[in-house]
Amino acid sequence: MTLDQALSIFDEYQQKLWALSAASGIIYHDGNTVAPKKSAQARGRIIAALAEQSYGISTDKSFMEALEVIDCNKDKCDGAIVKSAYLYLKEARDMAKIPAEEYVEFSRHINESSAVWHEAKENSDFASFAPYLEKTVETLRRFASYTDPEKDVYDVCLDSYEKGLTTEKCEQFFGALKPVLKELISKVAAAKPVRTDFMKEHFPIDKQKALADYITELMGIDTDRFAIAETEHPYTTDASRYDVRIATHYYEDAFASALFSNIHENGHALYELGTGEEYAFTNLGGGVSMGIHESQSRFYENIIGRSYPFANLILPKLKELAPAQFRDVDGETLWKALCESKPSLIRTESDELTYTMHIIIRYELENLLMHGELTVDKLPEEWNRRYKEYLGVDVPDDKHGVLQDSHWSGGSIGYFPSYALGSAYGAQLLCKMKESVNVEQCIEKGDFAPINNWLEQNIWRHGRRYDPNELLTMACKQEFTPDYFIDYLTEKYTKIYNL
Ligand code: ZN
Repeated sequence: MTLDQALSIFDEYQQKLWALSAASGIIYHDGNTVAPKKSAQARGRIIAALAEQSYGISTDKSFMEALEVIDCNKDKCDGAIVKSAYLYLKEARDMAKIPAEEYVEFSRHINESSAVWHEAKENSDFASFAPYLEKTVETLRRFASYTDPEKDVYDVCLDSYEKGLTTEKCEQFFGALKPVLKELISKVAAAKPVRTDFMKEHFPIDKQKALADYITELMGIDTDRFAIAETEHPYTTDASRYDVRIATHYYEDAFASALFSNIHENGHALYELGTGEEYAFTNLGGGVSMGIHESQSRFYENIIGRSYPFANLILPKLKELAPAQFRDVDGETLWKALCESKPSLIRTESDELTYTMHIIIRYELENLLMHGELTVDKLPEEWNRRYKEYLGVDVPDDKHGVLQDSHWSGGSIGYFPSYALGSAYGAQLLCKMKESVNVEQCIEKGDFAPINNWLEQNIWRHGRRYDPNELLTMACKQEFTPDYFIDYLTEKYTKIYNL
């Protein structure tokens, strides 16, 4: 096969793979939002048929040959095409190392494991889920030994969510954060609480939707390429940079929940919408990693959305939509209420300060499990002990403890650290951005264009062209360090609680 032939086959197959994956995404979103109840089974068939097509194309002999030819002619090809081909090749090579029957068995196991977890969580019955988690850990360890026998098993897991992430880097990151968080959390607990009485008042859903539209417009989202739907657990999905959708949830007596999930998902959406046009319909067109994606959503949610100027900016709108609720609330009171920190049991409902501690607990436990230093049956005990020690809370049952997250039941071990990394990436990006953008003034004026332009130039437009650590280093002109995040949290919470 000549290089020209290879490039033409590559292009043709890549377009097909993109289309199949985009179709699955749209069908998945449809199923989560507007599809009728009884459509699930039929949808399962559609998705399975698309997955089969996709598997056929990605393992097709001529496609594989085309990838190899491009890989062998790196210096004669465009860098983006080389990277794109490499990503397909790497996936195919890793896949080929796992015996097909073991892979199929694991997919079946994960399906069952998720169903058992739902039931176990409902009944707070860890024992019924434990054998499934044991099998997941054992299988992931075995798979790691197939794909990368030289590498540490947990490093293989971490790398699959955030390329280049290792246990050593996590130790440095969490090791630096943990003592600072511990001290800040205990100081906040001893400080005078902030005023929050107005936060849980009734805020009608239609008014919350109007608030969501206002936020979307404020953030500069192109609504011709974007749509909002409703679902139980908020998320963002994209078919391409021309079709990005978020799904969110409204609670009548907790307006801040929808407000921040909107800002968060909009942050993810901006990233997808801002990926380079030249990468559309290819495997480079999308966010590069979990960590970088979370850095964009959390940048908007916490760094901007929970800033003093932002509270001042949105207060008039809140007063317009719910006049009685915000009658005697000023910008500073609102800001402090939006940033309230209180140790709690549930990760997804936790605040900006304690959130990372929830992640540290999961990271430590995963790390021990994957290294065989902790057995699954001891997991609840170790979970509860850490919640008491790090956050000072008593875990009443496994539903509110070790069974709360779906990740482990779905086979996702090594995923959690990327959430915390995202927050830390965001703080480092902010510092670099401030060298050329007056961030505070932009927020005060409600003019997010300079902020978005900076993010688009430095992060969004690159899609998956560079690895996450490469991208961050290019944007910040410096390697990743947790220092900016530590300074950011310390400064912010010292101010809010007068520590
Ligand atoms: Zn997110």
